[in-house]
Amino acid sequence: MIDAVRDVLLAPRCAGCAEPGAWFCLACRDSCEPVTQRGPIAVRAAGAHEGPLRAAVHRLKYGKEPALADDLGALVARVLAGDLATGIVIDAIVPVPLHRARALARGYDQASLLAGAIGRRTGLPVRTALRRIRQGTPQVELDRIARAKNVRAAFVAEAASLRGLRVALVDDVTTTGATLRDAAAAARAAGARSVCAYVVAVEE
Ligand SMILES: [Zn+2]
Repeated sequence: MIDAVRDVLLAPRCAGCAEPGAWFCLACRDSCEPVTQRGPIAVRAAGAHEGPLRAAVHRLKYGKEPALADDLGALVARVLAGDLATGIVIDAIVPVPLHRARALARGYDQASLLAGAIGRRTGLPVRTALRRIRQGTPQVELDRIARAKNVRAAFVAEAASLRGLRVALVDDVTTTGATLRDAAAAARAAGARSVCAYVVAVEE
């Protein structure tokens, strides 16, 4: 079904509470309390991975509802804008991408959609600098150069593509932080001066 037809037939319905009118309604947005996770990199989230937010993230990932990324991105943008107002400086937003094969299977890459929504609302540029080379994908499927360079790494980035930048990684959800750590390592290898992360939800 083409998007326009689908939009008419299926008006937005909140992924958190099923109320019609929005992909993630104001009441559900207001129920989210921002969370900070300290560790190797600082992670800020729009909320804990529970309740309506958990339902919304799940729907974004598995429900084939890319439109939800705009409302969830707005939620993250509100947290990021609040941090910028306190004097924190971010030069660029960098999505933590899915492996290409997974993004193709899903039809979209939710982290890229979130990053776009956040960039539009904060005015920060989005740099799609990272490429995921490992996500349950057998090594044999990687091209030979990537395999030789990165036997263990999950992400690669072009050398110096983030040189000197204070980078905010963007992803949908983090649990152990392992993926964000891998992505941060690739960003630093590409020259990033500092790396922090913004996610929709953090699993505590
Ligand atoms: Zn709701």
